[in-house]
Amino acid sequence: CIPIDPRALGVLRALEAAGETAWFVGGCVRDALLGRPAHDFDIATSARWQRVRAIFQAQGRHVIETGAEHGSVGVVVDGMVVETTTYRTESTYSDGRRPDDVAFVDDIALDLARRDFCMNAIAYHPERGLFDPFGGKADIEAGIVGAVGDADKRFEEDPLRILRAVRFCAQLGFDADERTRDAAVRKAGDIRRIARERVFAELEKTLLAPACGAAIARYRSVVEAAVPGFLQLGGGIGRTARALDSLPTRADLRFAALLAGMEEACGKGTAHDRLRTLRAPRKLIARVNALIAALDEDCDPVPLQARLLVAAHSGDIAFVRDLITLQTALAIFDDASPERGARMSRILDDLESGPVPLKRADLAIGGGELIEAGMPAGPSIAATLDALLLETIRGDLPNERAALLAWATSGSCPCEPGA
Ligand code: ATP
Ligand code: MG
Repeated sequence: CIPIDPRALGVLRALEAAGETAWFVGGCVRDALLGRPAHDFDIATSARWQRVRAIFQAQGRHVIETGAEHGSVGVVVDGMVVETTTYRTESTYSDGRRPDDVAFVDDIALDLARRDFCMNAIAYHPERGLFDPFGGKADIEAGIVGAVGDADKRFEEDPLRILRAVRFCAQLGFDADERTRDAAVRKAGDIRRIARERVFAELEKTLLAPACGAAIARYRSVVEAAVPGFLQLGGGIGRTARALDSLPTRADLRFAALLAGMEEACGKGTAHDRLRTLRAPRKLIARVNALIAALDEDCDPVPLQARLLVAAHSGDIAFVRDLITLQTALAIFDDASPERGARMSRILDDLESGPVPLKRADLAIGGGELIEAGMPAGPSIAATLDALLLETIRGDLPNERAALLAWATSGSCPCEPGA
């Protein structure tokens, strides 16, 4: 018995009351068998989409028709969209993107046969139970992603399935069975035929998944097809995989980790180029670029440099925090000072709790006061203010008027008159 949201169950019952047959299919059945909460419910039905629309509009429900040409309509029930799709087979995919023609059929078995993986080709009905002609439940129990039917053929039809296989491995901690894995590697080049936005969406889901590192390391040739140059990382792929697994689940950090090594291996601008090719959102591209550009800044093992970094990035403590997280994940400090990331983070905590002077105007003393105190007007005033700023940023001098003045006139300052 699989837990079904009452709103989704209501849609199934309404279709049946109208004389149609209907089953729950796809991700909701798979996730229930995995003991995970389903995030959406898909129903396969004998009803053609116009009939589905008529049934639910008669109930006063809103019906979303965006996928209607492929037989899918969404029924909105109390804020939940229940996706219904007419039983169908898919025949030819001349562009590897969308089936050329969709044939509607009356048989759930034929509908399950067109689905990508056995674990996604299980139907469930509250009274009839599971209908699992491809052994999807056994695959789920064994942690296997297995193509329905001939894997090569299924990947040729729709190469997005190759990326979906890797994504499911990353999300569920599964692995593909041998035939599916071999076919994925053999057909990886076909990924170039798919719309870039779809590649980006799958890649992003993969990078944000809990077992991402193992999946990208195992399917490196698939990643290469989506992000050309990845294989040039060679032994660096292991480091990238470990970095991905240790980072928070944020797209900017994870794309930066994926692309940082490639920037070294394939040349400056590689990260930017690959993200643009994938039509990644502008904001993401900018953030990843900034992180990668800053990655090699300040590898000096002096932890107080955190303050200098914050100053260099216009006081953007959150950015520096991300940078240090990324540097730590990529083990950039490991040789010099493995504890450095943690120490830098503690300094950032301190900085966040108090204002940091970042420019001359933030200092508790001005040029006029230095002149009043007897220092000669001229360029040495600006130089003295800069020296004071550096000392306060480093944390060696409090940003207090008396302390600053004493330091500037005591002879400690290299810019003291006559120095
Ligand atoms: P999730 O929603 O958790 O990402 P899902 O398995 O529900 O996973 P959807 O993209 O929502 O994935 O698709 C629903 C179902 O439609 C899948 O379970 C699968 O049966 C089928 N399906 C989706 N995309 C494809 C595809 N490219 N080729 C074949 N079948 C597919
Ligand atoms: Mg789904």
